[in-house]
Amino acid sequence: MLDLTTNVKYVKGVGPRIAEMLTTKGIQTVEDLLYYLPFRYEDRLNPRSIAELREGEMASIICEVRGSMLFRTRKMPIFEATFGQGRNTLKARWFHGTWLKDKLRPGQIVALYGKVEAGGRGKNNFEINHPQMEILTAGPEPILDNALPLKDSMERAAQQEREAQARLDQSLEVGRIVPIYESAADQKLSPRWFRRILYNTLENLSLAIPDGVPAAIRERLQLVDRRSAFQKVHFPDAGTSFANLESSRTPAHIRLIFEELFFLEVGLELKRRRMRARKGIKFELTENVRSAIKRFLPFHPTNAQKRVFGEIAADMQYPAPMRRMVQGDVGSGKTLVALEAAIVAIENGYQCALMAPTEILATQHYLNARRWMEKCGYRVDLLTGSLEAQKKRDIRRSVASGATRLIIGTHALIEDKVEFAKLGLVIVDEQHRFGVMQRYKLMKKNDGVEPDTLVMTATPIPRTLALTLYGDLDTSIIDELPPGRTPITTRRVTDEREEEVWQFVRKQVKAGRQAYVVYPVIEGAASSGDPQAELEFAAYEFAPELDEKNRKKLDLKSATVMYDKLRRKVFSDLRVGLLHGRIPAEEKEAIMRSFQAGTIDVLVSTTVIEVGVDVANATVMVVEHAERFGLSQLHQLRGRIGRGAAKSFCVLMTSAKANVTPQAERRLDEMVRTQDGFQIAELDLELRGPGEFFGTKQAGVPMFRVANLIRDRKLLEIAKVEAAALVAGTSANVSQSDVSTVMDHLKNHWQRRYGLVEVG
Ligand code: ADP
Ligand code: MG
Repeated sequence: MLDLTTNVKYVKGVGPRIAEMLTTKGIQTVEDLLYYLPFRYEDRLNPRSIAELREGEMASIICEVRGSMLFRTRKMPIFEATFGQGRNTLKARWFHGTWLKDKLRPGQIVALYGKVEAGGRGKNNFEINHPQMEILTAGPEPILDNALPLKDSMERAAQQEREAQARLDQSLEVGRIVPIYESAADQKLSPRWFRRILYNTLENLSLAIPDGVPAAIRERLQLVDRRSAFQKVHFPDAGTSFANLESSRTPAHIRLIFEELFFLEVGLELKRRRMRARKGIKFELTENVRSAIKRFLPFHPTNAQKRVFGEIAADMQYPAPMRRMVQGDVGSGKTLVALEAAIVAIENGYQCALMAPTEILATQHYLNARRWMEKCGYRVDLLTGSLEAQKKRDIRRSVASGATRLIIGTHALIEDKVEFAKLGLVIVDEQHRFGVMQRYKLMKKNDGVEPDTLVMTATPIPRTLALTLYGDLDTSIIDELPPGRTPITTRRVTDEREEEVWQFVRKQVKAGRQAYVVYPVIEGAASSGDPQAELEFAAYEFAPELDEKNRKKLDLKSATVMYDKLRRKVFSDLRVGLLHGRIPAEEKEAIMRSFQAGTIDVLVSTTVIEVGVDVANATVMVVEHAERFGLSQLHQLRGRIGRGAAKSFCVLMTSAKANVTPQAERRLDEMVRTQDGFQIAELDLELRGPGEFFGTKQAGVPMFRVANLIRDRKLLEIAKVEAAALVAGTSANVSQSDVSTVMDHLKNHWQRRYGLVEVG
């Protein structure tokens, strides 16, 4: 008998060598194996007859091999085979199909799956290119060679076993709904192999496997038990709705998905509780603090800013460490709120660290903070990687001595060499740009007491992700823009009309405004070998549908080349500046300052200006190759304008030469249609999938085995409610021993299953 914790190597047909191969798929135990779900199913119970095929559909067909051949064209070898059912035939073709040469023999029965296309002549003449194929029988001769003389009973027994195995093989491949698995270990472990192994596993799995989801909850939500969920998700009953199978909506699927989300949410809920029980700093909101904030405030805060600061202040006064995320669309004024929090910390005798993802942004925060906080008399310093070594040392010393009250910087802040005298508050701007690990590292900078943490993000986070990736953080939302903003007009044009666009830019400049023109790359070729160029190229959030190869051979207009062209020809009478990540820090700063001061009219740039840069007089954002950018990046870029009272314009220019993919069409349409960051984020998540949503795989998105955050939103909400009730002890009919079962299950699974979520 197998149980869930049994090592896979003990499953019949596996063994140590294959077990080793399976580890690459994360499969070590029987339980892991059971979570290796089919990615689709084939209906071989009611397979299609060739006569009723329709062009364009995906179909699975069981038919007989009639003939095959390999022929060579000038371009490539092609393997072509004819299959039949009675008088009807069907052709299939495999380009570069040399490997199939000796595989097919007339009379073999195969299962094909693929897209039906119209064949050459005649109306019921179909073909399939590159179908997935499984050979179901060995050929016309009987599978078992009965002619073998049976010498003794031992041989007879062996024979019988082989016959039984053959019958089983048959019944797993045809006459049922067949699970299709991803093959593993370079095709060595085929879908067919997995089918057999999973069948064996389920046959030998003990009937009483532990079910972590309490019976009361299962009953309430009508979830099937775990044992039968495993059984049916791999080998669906004959009557199962095929549509439900395809959309992972059978009771078996729902049960397994719920379970995964439920334990994630219980884990996050526990983490929140544990955090609330930890010892942190209890800041006081004294009269001193209030008057310092009053002196500081450069504007009258919006209602949303007031509310969010209230939430932050309440956290800071509470003795546990704050873990709060502030979401607010670009331009909603998050910095103001963050600096108010900094004042609370500083007036209580602590230091505050503010970490930003780029030097430009850190510098801008620094300049603002110094200006605004002057009246409070705090020492504010900037620490970035590009400072001279001596300067860096001086600043680190000042931070260590406690003289620096507010330190602003980039990743340089989390270097081991940086020590604080009394760190009380950590602010992380544009959170999504950092990994969970980095956030964690800065929090650990204070040995002993844990500082409060405030993370800010301008990428509105779809609720599904907020509930998972950031499930351990409390959330505040600034859902109001400062007064006096006018909506931005967004247009799409192809670069055949660039003359008109430049005319328009010129007109705006003549009216006293400034413009950005953004390009995806610094220089023409992406692979210049220069590390900074590579970095920026990597930071550029590609249209996700482009694969590695397409990304490299892009023939893109670049910032440097276009800067030359714009400066010399198009805008020879205007002041044009260039900004990208490879320009030395001091020069970069100088350029930003001139743009801020209005002595540069048109700023040609890469996406380095994407986050946070704030120049209210800039009213035009031109993005070239807009079809190549991801949605949230376009939204961020557009957020650079519309910051003042004057009307602003965003021009998304697409290359007339490039063909705009349907996904790119959707992104561009969405940009024109709405300015609402949350709507844009939802679509972005849908188009890209959760793993890619933050442009980085290490952002800590849990790797689900069965759940899918986009498809399973509703189940996630339900799981969260149930998890919260269970942890709070208010889940109806759930006993204390049920709760312990859940906790045990979690302890055994959390670290392995949800990995990084544990950290931070
Ligand atoms: P983001 O949330 O994108 O980081 P910022 O903090 O950069 O936004 O603020 C955007 C702009 O709005 C800045 O120029 C800031 O000075 C200004 N601002 C912020 N709050 C207010 C307010 N209450 N009234 C007027 N202007 C404000
Ligand atoms: Mg900001």
